[in-house]
Amino acid sequence: MNLTYLGTAAAEGIPGIFCACDTCREATRRGGKDLRTRSQAIVDDTLLIDLPPDSYFHMLRDGVSLPDIEHMLLTHTHSDHFLASELYYRRPGFCDTRATLTIYGNDTLKRNADALVEKTGTTYEKSKLACVELTEFVPHDVAGYTVVPLLARHARDEKCFIYLIGRDGKWLLYGNDTGIFPDATWDYLHGRKLDLVSLDCTCGKRAEGTNHMGVPDLITMRQRLADAGCLHEHTQLVATHFSHNGGLLHADLEALLNPHGYEVAYDGMRVEI
Ligand SMILES: [Zn+2]
Ligand SMILES: [Zn+2]
Ligand SMILES: [Zn+2]
Repeated sequence: MNLTYLGTAAAEGIPGIFCACDTCREATRRGGKDLRTRSQAIVDDTLLIDLPPDSYFHMLRDGVSLPDIEHMLLTHTHSDHFLASELYYRRPGFCDTRATLTIYGNDTLKRNADALVEKTGTTYEKSKLACVELTEFVPHDVAGYTVVPLLARHARDEKCFIYLIGRDGKWLLYGNDTGIFPDATWDYLHGRKLDLVSLDCTCGKRAEGTNHMGVPDLITMRQRLADAGCLHEHTQLVATHFSHNGGLLHADLEALLNPHGYEVAYDGMRVEI
């Protein structure tokens, strides 16, 4: 398997849309790895994770063939991870839609998708769209991958997911918008060896522990993962989903995270698992 990071920023992007802070100014000046779009990733160029506002840009910049994507996992319905209105353009008259797109996520996603389909006067069939509600901790076969939604510690009014994805004996854990995992997720993970762990690092040097994480939380997470028996000699740890409010540029993040075994994701980074 491989995982490609298409976007690696939190909700506003880096530089943040409309933001004049020093971090955003300097990110613009430096360019390269300091320019971050809203978080999205893809497994083996097949299994897309999240639908942020920059999805269309990722189609142009990274060659993601959105017309051919058939499976999309959604972590939760905040608009930086699920811009529902984009699905409106799958309707007849707007789109020569050929492949059926199945979206997978929590109960809130299912309700929002049903409402969107109804509001726009179409049907799932006409839009070649399907929505599958997943249950936390219940494995689901998605295009030959075993996908297990685990609970994040994030929004209080929604059951936010992180995804455990397996194929051919390899396992990756993709999280964003999560604090230190809730107990039920630790219970599920206990003793399961992971080959790639990708975690939220929204808050820069600041620890948060709930909702999002910062560098001190990631150091704690590495120890917790080790204590739970999830790490092996070659487990890759990656930090992603950065906010300009964290005040750290790519080189700053590397200086803080590399010594603790984390790689710092950037837009376009591909990890082989
Ligand atoms: Zn987010
Ligand atoms: Zn800013
Ligand atoms: Zn969120």
